[in-house]
Amino acid sequence: MTAAIKFVADQMLGRLARWLRMLGYDTLYPQVRDSELVRLARAEGRILLTRDTHLGRREDIEVLFIDSDRVQEQLKQIIKQLSLKIDNIMSSRCTICNSLLKEVGRQEAKDFVPEFTYVTHDKFGYCQSCHKFYWSGTHWQKMEEFLCNLN
Ligand SMILES: [Zn+2]
Repeated sequence: MTAAIKFVADQMLGRLARWLRMLGYDTLYPQVRDSELVRLARAEGRILLTRDTHLGRREDIEVLFIDSDRVQEQLKQIIKQLSLKIDNIMSSRCTICNSLLKEVGRQEAKDFVPEFTYVTHDKFGYCQSCHKFYWSGTHWQKMEEFLCNLN
């Protein structure tokens, strides 16, 4: 994973932002005006992801105009254009707040996840800000299948 790559996504790209976080990429998704998006991209060295053709033409920041409305196509475009390496899917970020998840064992998750999930998983991701647990459920499996079929 190329940890140095960071993103800021515009208001149209909420689902994409959540997927990028799951893949471990530091991705902001602020509900702010265009000028603030541009400021954030510049100040924090983030690539601006946008569906806005006007923003997409800016040359004073790194910007990637996203072609599709479909999140799978959007991810495909980013992975291809930026040559992102997707290898450790569990080193991910909280989809809500963008914090890095801490890997915890099942004992720590016991009282906070459904019984079936507790029994069938050894490792969980934990967000220390939201106190939310993550695990590799069907959502992840679908994602991994999708990513494997990209090439
Ligand atoms: Zn969180």
